[in-house]
Amino acid sequence: MKKKVYFKTFGCRTNLYDSQVMMSSMKDYEITQDETQADAIVINSCTVTNGADTHVRSYISQVEKNNAGAKLFLTGCGAHTKGESLLKENRIHGVFGQSEKEKIDTLLKKDKPFYDPGDLNHIDDIIVDDFVGKSRAFIKIQEGCNFRCSYCIIPFVRGDARSMDEEKILEQIRRLALNGFGEFILTGTNVGSYGKDTKTSLAKLMKKMSQIRGVRRIRLGSVEPIQITDEFLEILDEPWLERHMHIALQHTSPKMLKIMNRRNVYKQDRELFELLASKGFAIGTDFITGHPGESEELWLEGMKNARELPLTHIHAFTYSKRDGTSSASMKPEVNGKIAKKRLHEIQDLITEKNLSFRKAFNSNLDVLIESKKDGLYQGFDQHFNKILIESDDDLLGNWINIENYEIRGDYNFAKF
Ligand code: SF4
Repeated sequence: MKKKVYFKTFGCRTNLYDSQVMMSSMKDYEITQDETQADAIVINSCTVTNGADTHVRSYISQVEKNNAGAKLFLTGCGAHTKGESLLKENRIHGVFGQSEKEKIDTLLKKDKPFYDPGDLNHIDDIIVDDFVGKSRAFIKIQEGCNFRCSYCIIPFVRGDARSMDEEKILEQIRRLALNGFGEFILTGTNVGSYGKDTKTSLAKLMKKMSQIRGVRRIRLGSVEPIQITDEFLEILDEPWLERHMHIALQHTSPKMLKIMNRRNVYKQDRELFELLASKGFAIGTDFITGHPGESEELWLEGMKNARELPLTHIHAFTYSKRDGTSSASMKPEVNGKIAKKRLHEIQDLITEKNLSFRKAFNSNLDVLIESKKDGLYQGFDQHFNKILIESDDDLLGNWINIENYEIRGDYNFAKF
């Protein structure tokens, strides 16, 4: 009988994708969904903040109680920052960098404890052709980041930006489309840098993807404002491009952007957002509150600017210190309670803006049904707004067009 392996994935979509690659590469083991039954547990870790490291440690403690016999393996970004110490403490059996993930069968068989951080220039070779249980497929198109935002450890653990081979990406999409996937989400550490090293571009790749039979909607994980080039602006009217873009600003005060060593400039961000809004796009962003140096004055300026932006979605976080970054030693720090209060302020603002956006929209919703919970189907429309649907039909995995719906607090509702 094959030994059983359980995968525990922390962090972002890139990790989700990497776990999928490991599962697809594994031939000699069986995947289990029950960690207490596993002979080996692969922890695909995140190290984006000091807090993320703590989560990985707590998970290890939990496994030590629930399944003391399992061999633990650590991979992902945390392998580079915490791998050696966890290995020394004998809390894990092996550490491997994400570049080594396709060798998972061999690594799991190693009898002796090992540390194999791999290299930061690696680019995946494997094609994953299914994402079990999901109706949308995540496609990793690049790895690493050339930016050096002052609070971020990612470039040091994922390396500089490098793109995956275009033909491999397209082949992967062809296979997924044949398996019934219609929506594709392009992900990576810094998606917008795709093609810089291979003399192509994100816009060119997306155009080629759109020509593949079965590809219905393409969405981008997150791009930086300066990566929306003139060439990219030309594809904005394409019907296959999701009418929602996630563009990472991180802040809306020009001075804070400098402190955070960001490359975006508020004035240009605003022009770009207004252009996208005029074309009917819903726009999401990332935002960090409470980064060192965020005085009351800069916060108020940031909020004033955020009010003027046509934003509809937000991923806001309070700043969390990450050792090894330049922000970690910056002063003055912002009190945690103040950072949280600011977080709620910006979230409330965008919730209101999202509601106004949904009220102002007066056309049909194009929805992909992803799940069913408590008797209601759930999906997302072309603006990435949630919709709950009551229906007697089996709608799971279907695309439906909805004409009549009710606008509720933070979602829409329809009977179908
Ligand atoms: S763009 Fe900035 S925040 Fe994003 S991964 Fe690169 S350095 Fe980190």
